[in-house]
Amino acid sequence: MLDADYIKRNIRTVPDWPEKGVQFRDITPLLQNPKTLRVLIDLFVHRYMGQDIDLVAGIDARGFILGAIVAYELNLGFVPIRKKGKLPFTTVEEQYELEYGSATVELHADACKPGDRVLIIDDLIATGGTMMAGKKLVEKLGATVVEGAAIVDLPELGGSRRLREAGLALHTLVDFGGH
Ligand code: AMP
Repeated sequence: MLDADYIKRNIRTVPDWPEKGVQFRDITPLLQNPKTLRVLIDLFVHRYMGQDIDLVAGIDARGFILGAIVAYELNLGFVPIRKKGKLPFTTVEEQYELEYGSATVELHADACKPGDRVLIIDDLIATGGTMMAGKKLVEKLGATVVEGAAIVDLPELGGSRRLREAGLALHTLVDFGGH
């Protein structure tokens, strides 16, 4: 797909960041350039406009940027899924394993309600742990995840496969090999 190539060419790879061996796929050039930002947002909006969705949930932190713009364009509201300790009101939380240690994400207890149909957005799927935790949070509140969406998938890490096996519909725009 032409647009996906255009998106991929404008993602910057930063080797050995934040630690040796990691190829960091930096999406900030996509946000900085007004043309790529528009194509990027339009790719998501085109997919989800007219669909039965009540709310967009964005994952800390780059999912906030994308998710909020997509929500606005779809005429929907936006809720943040944040790292533990950042949300002020009553929350539900979900812990998940990282390569070393664990992480916890939270969602406000009134962010969505039973029956709501939620689209979750993040920038990238690596092991899939973050997106999986987001799905569980939304489901804890009785809502349904319509789809998980991200710009980048790293298929060799197996996250997208695991998410789909867990029953999550997943949509990503571009793949990168390796970690
Ligand atoms: P995971 O939970 O392993 O799927 O990791 C996904 C989260 O970590 C996303 O919120 C990404 O922003 C971040 N992330 C993990 N690996 C990378 C990478 N190679 N480049 C950029 N971001 C990454």
